[in-house]
This record gives sequence, C-alpha cells and structure tokens, in this order.
Amino acid sequence: MKTLQRVIPAQRTSDGAGVSLYRSLGQSQHVRLDPFLMLDEFGSDRPDEYIAGFPPHPHRGFETVTYMLEGHMLHEDHLGNRGHLKSGGVQWMTAGRGIIHSEMPQQESGLMRGFQLWINLPAAEKMKPASYRDIDAAELPEASFEDGSWVKVIAGEVQREGKTLAGPIQGLTTDPLFVDVRLPAGGRFEQPIKAGYRAYVYVFEGDLAADPGSSLDRLLPARHGGCLDGEGPVAVQASESGARFLLLAARPLGEPIVQYGPFVMNTRAEIEQAVADYQAGRLAG
Ligand code: FE
Repeated sequence: MKTLQRVIPAQRTSDGAGVSLYRSLGQSQHVRLDPFLMLDEFGSDRPDEYIAGFPPHPHRGFETVTYMLEGHMLHEDHLGNRGHLKSGGVQWMTAGRGIIHSEMPQQESGLMRGFQLWINLPAAEKMKPASYRDIDAAELPEASFEDGSWVKVIAGEVQREGKTLAGPIQGLTTDPLFVDVRLPAGGRFEQPIKAGYRAYVYVFEGDLAADPGSSLDRLLPARHGGCLDGEGPVAVQASESGARFLLLAARPLGEPIVQYGPFVMNTRAEIEQAVADYQAGRLAG
C-alpha cells in the first residue's frame, strides 16, 4: 500500500477581500502535489470572516474546483456566466486561457464552509477556452455503509461493499479522484490508486490513526494533509474520534510550473504574456 511521505499542516491565512481560510497545498511553490497546486479549506460562522468574498480576479492555465459543505456562493464572470453554488454542490471551472470572475457568499449569517482545489492543466490545454460545470448536490453520488461510514464522490470512482459510486467528472487529462469520506471511530477505508499516481489525504474533522495496517505511521489530525507515495492502495483508519477527510489522487503532469498569483503557466514568458493580456483586457481572447 501507499505510505506517508510528508505531513502538511494547513496554515491559517486570508485571501480575496479578507476571507479567512486554512491553506494546505499551495502555501508555497514547494508545497504542491503535481497536478494539485492548492487546497484551501474555508469555514466560519462569523460573517465578517467571509462576507466580503472574492471580488473580481483573473485566472489562467488551470482548473478551480469549489466544493461547498455549507452555505451559498454566487459566481459571476466577465463573459456573463452566472452560477449559484449551494450546500453540497461543486463548481468545476476550467479557467483555460482566461476568466475574470467573482465568488461572493450569498448569506449574511450562519455557517460558510467548503474547499477550493486548484488542479493544473497540461501545457497543451492551458489556452483552451474557459468552461464551467455547476454540479448540484443531487448529481454527486453518495452512500452510507454498514460500518457507519459515508462516501461522496466528486471525481473518479469508488467501489465499496458492492456499490459503485462514479463521480460526474470524467475524461480529464489529469484523471482526478476527489472523494469526501466520513468514518466512525475505528472505521477503515481503502481505495485503489492507479499506478504512477500520487495521493493526498486532507483531514478536516477528527483524526486518522497511526496504524501498521494502514498507509499512516503517524496520527493525522484535522487540518493536516498527508502526501502518500509508493504503489498500491491508500488505506486509512479513523481514531476513536472518527474522521472526515478528502482523498485526492491524479495523473501527474511532470511539466515545469511558473506561477504568478492566479496565473499558472510553464514558462516565464507565458506569465508575462498573461499579465500583458490581462492588463490589455484580452485575457480571455
Ligand atoms: Fe477565483
């Protein structure tokens, strides 16, 4: 099975117009897991920590996946696309050549909680037209199991106790697996991972236990991510507190990365072009 190679404690930071969040992958250019560039967890019941949202900003060269656990977010871009992201739903945005958008909370009180994941695009796809998929919670397969565990699949496929859960996102070059798993105390979860893919586990409730029969040789508490390497499946076991975590895996691109904020390209010249295009108002062509 895969083994734990590195533990990444999420760092508390803020982004956009003061949205409080915990950044896991993407804290620096040394904290990535090809093709995953960034993973943010946002979660607060204090409106002043989220209400100002993410006013208009650009992206080029990658995909953003926003998964809401609680709360509502309105998305609008400069091409006139509008989407309303609700609890349990996902927005899968392929920025491609470019998009300028805003992501604004649609509630003035209560809990706002979710994730944003950035997935790199291969060089050959970085300049394709921007596109979206808004996926309602009802379109995302989920199931509860006899041991008290629960699994929801956003991308890729999970087979457990004779059930197959196939996420709505298929056919991408990076072939991502993106799964939300809740385990009861002592509950186990095992997932085969395709050869050559690395995996990332991000715990956001409870703890995953250190166990010789699992991929983890150290306790992985909430707001900690683990990079898993080697061949075979990922196997984890919840501690006595139970655990909820995201499991990510994908085909690595193995291409050079040059990032300047929300532009992620392969060369410095392409970054300079992105900045010039943005300043000239032709980011999206
Ligand atoms: Fe954005």
